[in-house]
Amino acid sequence: MGETGWKSAVSSGINSGTEAAARFGGDPVTLEKAEKSFPVRINSYYLSLIGSSTDPLGRQVVPSGMEAGDTSGTGDPLAEDADSPVPHLVHRYPDRVLLLVTYQCAVYCRFCTRRRAVGRTPTPTAGDMDRAISYISNHGEIRDVIVSGGDPLMLSDSTLGSLLSRIRAIPHVEIIRVDSRIPCVLPSRITPELCTELRKHHPLYFNTHFNHPRELTPESIRACEMLADSGIPVGNQTVLLKGVNNDPETMKKLVQGLLAARVKPYYLYQCDPVSGAGHFLTTIQEGLDIISALRGYTSGMAVPAYVIDAPGGGGKVQVIPPDIIEITDERVVFRNYAGRVFTYIQPGPAGK
Ligand SMILES: *Cc1c(COP(=O)(O)O)cnc(C)c1O
Repeated sequence: MGETGWKSAVSSGINSGTEAAARFGGDPVTLEKAEKSFPVRINSYYLSLIGSSTDPLGRQVVPSGMEAGDTSGTGDPLAEDADSPVPHLVHRYPDRVLLLVTYQCAVYCRFCTRRRAVGRTPTPTAGDMDRAISYISNHGEIRDVIVSGGDPLMLSDSTLGSLLSRIRAIPHVEIIRVDSRIPCVLPSRITPELCTELRKHHPLYFNTHFNHPRELTPESIRACEMLADSGIPVGNQTVLLKGVNNDPETMKKLVQGLLAARVKPYYLYQCDPVSGAGHFLTTIQEGLDIISALRGYTSGMAVPAYVIDAPGGGGKVQVIPPDIIEITDERVVFRNYAGRVFTYIQPGPAGK
């Protein structure tokens, strides 16, 4: 499938609350309200994987009656707009930035943290990108540029390629990351031509976004392998979602399946408190229990870092189930994955 194939998969899927109600049931008026709060898009590939609006894949993308009336959360929970020195760029950490190159996606995830902008904000113009790229050029401390959105692979190969070339031409930019859910939700977009373009810009990393083992289909696995075969390290960022993946067995299958597809689980995100997505929130204890059920019980490489993106713009904070029971100058007492207690004797001061 070339460019027309993936574009027609996007236009021929479900693109409104009314169509979602006709396909999955539910009150069209309520689902139209949900659509007003955040656009609807389920491309025909991802649609083909969904059994019902409440199965783990349906829940992620079929609009819910709970969205429009949700009074929890805020519009911009991570206060990204406050850390945006020029439009479409977020500069929060000392040495890296997020560059938002489009607000279109191949599906609109109902738990999206950028609901305020995604699907609605027009694609940044060439002039907008000129300003954002100048900012990166003028800030020598930026050594890592994360190309995100929206989904950057909604751009054509040539538009994306020319953006990547311009970023790569900045001497202080060491690495480029492309963050895209497309290998999972529209794998036919990962073409040999796209891979040829991406590999021109090494060192380039790719982080994708699988949330459930049923998303690991022959097509999506192949897409990840094509990227890996292009010398691109592929990571995965999962969002912890109630009714989708908030149980240890599902998460274990997902992370093991990802490693088998040569994708390294990178982050497990606590779901952000964004208005309209309150029905996806889990407790943090559930996340800690999932990490405890993975660590030691499966490959260490399969275990992602569980992070909370601090509401208000504090950045990511890793939360770890506590292992250390006691720590003194002499010894550290800790628990292993199975709950057994061990002691490590600290080295004595020199000469003692
Ligand atoms: C997540 C994020 C990054 C990247 O963080 P890493 O921990 O380096 O993956 C950069 N900028 C912003 C604003 C982010 O939210």
